[in-house]
Amino acid sequence: GIAPLNTLAVAVAAEPGARPVPLAPGLDDAWFENDGQLTKAEIRAVTLAALAPRLGQRLWDIGGGAGSVSIEWMLRHPAQRAVAIEARPERAARIRRNAESLGVPDLAVVEGEAPAALAGLPAPDAIFVGGGVGAPGLLPAAIAALPAGGRLVANAVTLEAEAVLLAAFAERGGTLRRLSVARADPVGGLHGWRAAMPVTQWAWTK
Ligand code: SAH
Repeated sequence: GIAPLNTLAVAVAAEPGARPVPLAPGLDDAWFENDGQLTKAEIRAVTLAALAPRLGQRLWDIGGGAGSVSIEWMLRHPAQRAVAIEARPERAARIRRNAESLGVPDLAVVEGEAPAALAGLPAPDAIFVGGGVGAPGLLPAAIAALPAGGRLVANAVTLEAEAVLLAAFAERGGTLRRLSVARADPVGGLHGWRAAMPVTQWAWTK
């Protein structure tokens, strides 16, 4: 089984088959049950760094998908808090399973569509938008919910979502960057670079 964070040391000693969770963000994709909607490991590591978790802070993970970003936020320390907001019920259920099996069952999962589903949630210290960047009113609602000093990180794969981030960058500043990753993949008996779709990321501190 997978060792929960707070029993890592014990599990490593006691359970020969235990898979201790690595301490650095950017876990291999295989740690997360997923349907392909997953922020891939390399991009996830950079995303967690941009979110810059501080001790005891709460993340809103809007468009939770498989939950990988909020789970990695929770894994940094037992005092971390996170809410994953996911529109699709089967994915919300998957986030709960992943949180359970990776040892962070306290991850809150809200099944619903942002921005409406954000109403009434406990206030965030940082927000990740991994889905729904272009949904009407979503970015403004996220920005309004952040306290001064709070971080917002939004990733886009589509041109339409990228256009929204470009406009946000033009209006508010922050950092806009494009991340590209290629992994070696079999081509015939040899290998070639398989490029993932580039991700545009906007990071901003309120
Ligand atoms: N970061 C995630 C993957 C996100 S995929 C991970 O690594 O696990 C984007 C997700 O956003 C999809 O699951 C999609 O259903 C969800 N989504 C898109 N628009 C949304 C909205 N307005 N509210 C809530 N979820 C949304």
